[in-house]
Amino acid sequence: MIKHCIFCKIARGEIPSEKIYENDNFFSIPDANPKIKGHSLIISKKHFETLLDLPSTLGTELLDCIKKTVLKLIDKHKSEGFNIVNNNFECAGQAVKHVHFHILPREEGGKVPRVY
Ligand code: 5GP
Ligand code: ZN
Repeated sequence: MIKHCIFCKIARGEIPSEKIYENDNFFSIPDANPKIKGHSLIISKKHFETLLDLPSTLGTELLDCIKKTVLKLIDKHKSEGFNIVNNNFECAGQAVKHVHFHILPREEGGKVPRVY
């Protein structure tokens, strides 16, 4: 845990958050500045800076948190698809240096353009 890391503070409960789903090592919450309806974050409970620092043994729990979160978001927002975005290092747009995955629910005719 890093004292001044915003996601560590959320993980510790020092900053209140509305959890969508959680397991032993990950939790999901709505993004504070949503780029799209339902934009949410999958965050590791322990502090790892990037995907490269995340132990591969946590892969099953990461997938569990992603899938359960996506299913809840799709149900809530009546989405038809979704994107997962994971920024690593500053040059790739990582602002919060605590590994996290953006979930972006999508629908036909939605405003966000295709990225790839
Ligand atoms: P990055 O650019 O690092 O991939 O994205 C960081 C994301 O974290 C941004 O979309 C930003 O809106 C979100 N964020 C930053 N601080 C907070 C916070 O305190 N609570 C929540 N829910 N999201 C945050
Ligand atoms: Zn942290």
